[in-house]
Amino acid sequence: MIRLSQITKTYGSGSLAVPVLRGIDLEIGDGEFVAIMGPSGSGKSTLMNIIGFLDKQTGGTYSLNGEDVKQANEKQLAGLRNRHIGFVFQQFFLLPRLNAQKNVETPLLYAGVSKKERSERALGLLEKVGLKERTGHLPSELSGGQKQRVAIARALVNQPTVILADEPTGALDSKTGAQIMELLTELNREGKTVIIVTHEEEIAACTDRIIVLRDGLIVDDRKVTS
Ligand code: ADP
Ligand code: MG
Repeated sequence: MIRLSQITKTYGSGSLAVPVLRGIDLEIGDGEFVAIMGPSGSGKSTLMNIIGFLDKQTGGTYSLNGEDVKQANEKQLAGLRNRHIGFVFQQFFLLPRLNAQKNVETPLLYAGVSKKERSERALGLLEKVGLKERTGHLPSELSGGQKQRVAIARALVNQPTVILADEPTGALDSKTGAQIMELLTELNREGKTVIIVTHEEEIAACTDRIIVLRDGLIVDDRKVTS
């Protein structure tokens, strides 16, 4: 369970201070499938980065599974991130010189997992995302949708409880985007909490709940009725 209470985020200080989140109250239960929408600059990525322990709030409390993470130092935040969070981004962020399998294995290098287990887990996940025949391909040899599948496999490699996807279909055509949403829906059905940021209504409509940000505040939070 993700619980944010009066979360604020300000970049800079003094006369240059820019308030980006201005008091976010939000609960997201285990296994939810949520879309965050809102205009450019409304604070969506900042909120995702705080939920994913890539950034720290300026004020307010964030607890994950009842654990207040405010007191966590950098090393503990990295630990929380590795244990709980899988990140997916619009730009994929694959390592260009590594093939699909090695890209998926990368997070495991830091975790000290044996070569054999790294390989088994990466190949299993690439099969799961439909890329069994592409494990040896470099990112430059893959389509956009295939690259995003590799990125999703990589996000899954530490068996996270939460998948955070910041505009995962933003760089894809609508058909490929819909396929990526099918994959995220399947992961949600298997029990993962999935939170995506999107500008597209059709993409948001694939989720169960839509949260709208404007100028650093939640202005709408509604169930998707299908
Ligand atoms: P969104 O994802 O909704 O487009 P962001 O969370 O990326 O919005 O950004 C919200 C606001 O915070 C923007 O005005 C942006 O310029 C500002 N911002 C984001 N990151 C930083 C940063 N590291 N330093 C200063 N300002 C930032
Ligand atoms: Mg953004």
